[in-house]
Amino acid sequence: MRQDKRCIYFDIDRTLIDSVKIRELTRARMCGETGLRRNQLNQVIEEYVSTLAHKNDYRREKMINFVSEKTGIKYAALKQAHDRPENYSEALYPEVAKALERLKKVGEVLGIYSEGFVRYQTDKLVLSGIIRYFETDKVVIVKRKLREKVVKQLDAAVVVDDSREVIEYLKNFKEITPIWLNRINKENMDGVRTIYNLDELPDAID
Ligand SMILES: [Mg+2]
Repeated sequence: MRQDKRCIYFDIDRTLIDSVKIRELTRARMCGETGLRRNQLNQVIEEYVSTLAHKNDYRREKMINFVSEKTGIKYAALKQAHDRPENYSEALYPEVAKALERLKKVGEVLGIYSEGFVRYQTDKLVLSGIIRYFETDKVVIVKRKLREKVVKQLDAAVVVDDSREVIEYLKNFKEITPIWLNRINKENMDGVRTIYNLDELPDAID
């Protein structure tokens, strides 16, 4: 018999937080607070990205440093604008905070199952104000999450993710209940419970 309570793990980007909106808001504030023109900022960031061997090598600090060196604007000013909590809380999907609150209230154990750099992914949770809903020992942030070793770590769990690829992979593990969160359209996935926002989650896992 299992002793631990089932945990519900959430992906971060495009599941809890709209990453495109984060990009918009961080860039808008970096310009608004430093006087940098938006098309110049876009251009410099594009230049930074072109120096990367792989898209996953993108690092916030390195990008900001690159912008600072290219424009002469102080790193600290850019960083402060980039990391304003509003850039992250305003990028949360509208139902997220309340839905997490309700799940916690009924005693669910919540976790994170995300890919990327630990520091920035964690900062997204902290700055947006939702870190408190997740158990510290249930926050799994790794460079590549589709690995057997990583999935085994989740044990018996529900995993909510917006990525078809992730859900397809998780279907191979009998102890995992994958839930596809489709925020794009009304399509669903064969053999997998599909939801369209987090308010539908409690019914999906009943
Ligand atoms: Mg995602």
